[in-house]
Amino acid sequence: MLRRVGPFLRHFLLERNCSAGYSSYCSEAKMSRPVQARRLEGVDKNIWVEFVKLAATYSTVNLGQGFPDFPPPEFLKEAFSRAVSGEEEHMLHQYTRAFGHPPLVKILAQLFGKLLGRDLDPMTNVMVTVGAYQALFCCFQAFIDEGDEVIIIEPFFDCYEPMVKMAGGTPVYIPLRPKAPKEGKLMSSADWQLDPAELASKFSEQTKAIVLNSPNNPLGKVFSRGELELIADLCVKHDALCISDEVYEWLVYDGKQHIRIASLPGMWDRTVIIGSAGKTFSVTGWKVGWTVGPNRLLQHLRTVHQNSVYHCATAAQDAVAKGFQRELEHYGKPDSYFVQLPRELQQKRDQLVQSLVAVGMKPIIPEGTYFLVADISEFKSEVPDVPNSDEPYDSRFAKWMVKNKGLAAIPLSAFYCGAHKDNYNTFIRFCFAKEDATLKAADDILQRWKLEKTAP
Ligand code: PMP
Ligand code: GLN
Repeated sequence: MLRRVGPFLRHFLLERNCSAGYSSYCSEAKMSRPVQARRLEGVDKNIWVEFVKLAATYSTVNLGQGFPDFPPPEFLKEAFSRAVSGEEEHMLHQYTRAFGHPPLVKILAQLFGKLLGRDLDPMTNVMVTVGAYQALFCCFQAFIDEGDEVIIIEPFFDCYEPMVKMAGGTPVYIPLRPKAPKEGKLMSSADWQLDPAELASKFSEQTKAIVLNSPNNPLGKVFSRGELELIADLCVKHDALCISDEVYEWLVYDGKQHIRIASLPGMWDRTVIIGSAGKTFSVTGWKVGWTVGPNRLLQHLRTVHQNSVYHCATAAQDAVAKGFQRELEHYGKPDSYFVQLPRELQQKRDQLVQSLVAVGMKPIIPEGTYFLVADISEFKSEVPDVPNSDEPYDSRFAKWMVKNKGLAAIPLSAFYCGAHKDNYNTFIRFCFAKEDATLKAADDILQRWKLEKTAP
């Protein structure tokens, strides 16, 4: 019916939001065709929507969603205060360059130039985004079309899947497969590996890109040079792009080295590196991220960025630029935040490992990130099971745990595609970027739980 009133009137009626007696036209319009463009599952099924709410409602100790509960470094807070209140800096309250505040792109080009061993042009090889999330979104929108396949390594940061689908692409999944650890040893994230033949079999004529996330959320796996070479060789052979999510690049432990796939032969030209100030400087709420790569790729990201969000908060970009300037001056020195943060986090990781081992949850020791995945198989008898449930066991377990013990964690199955969720449903993920007091409170909960379990 609404279609019959002509395009101008139709637009007018919809703009006026059905007011003034025209509502019958509008209610018919609502029924006549679906409003959504490319169909995705409702956001209420999203893991973060669901578990952030559960944690807010029930948890006394929240080791679920990944964010630090300790303050960011003083030098960064000061830089932000100066950016918003410095008397001569009032222009920091206005728009800056759309593709990145000049001081920030310049310092990022300098730092990544040094790390990658190549000259980078701040204006064409770097683009600032609203967090790494927007960097990812720009990549999928810029590179993926209907019919394109994108290889995703499981377990994966959950948003890769809907973002590929929103762009019209088809995700192709390849799981990291766990090997049993040596007798008497705890499993490490390094024990989760790609099967080279299986990976090769996932590449096809339709493969447009692979998403690599090293260090990996949720496992904490830091891909070795050999594993990266395997991926790089396949990308080169099949002329595929690599979307390299490196947001946890500074959070590596036990002397491990984070290797950038863009530095391997043939990879610079086909890789977009994605980073996040949220993880780098413990300021997840600032939502400053970036992309680094060749202009032939970044020019397309700029198109998506320009015509969607256009611009990121100037003051936050300025403060992050100052943070990187400070870090470049202190590079590799003991007072560098990039040296101090992983050192502190490694201790927190070990503290949480001890707490979990003491109660019989088997932690998988992460080589990087601030996440730790633990096997909960031995707790199966604890949690009243729901027969014939469609919901993976780990999700039911995590819900039961937050409601009954006040401890929030994230089920590992959230990081798998629908078909594979039930293959990995006896693990939960904890975030250990927390004050020692928070980790102690988690330990208290676990110890009490253990006593109740063993009480006659
Ligand atoms: N990639 C990974 C692997 C992450 O864990 C996160 C954390 N949210 C992001 C991207 C998004 O980062 P940001 O908060 O900077 O958008
Ligand atoms: N990256 C964070 C995590 O994995 C937060 C993700 C989110 O809240 N969307 O916990």
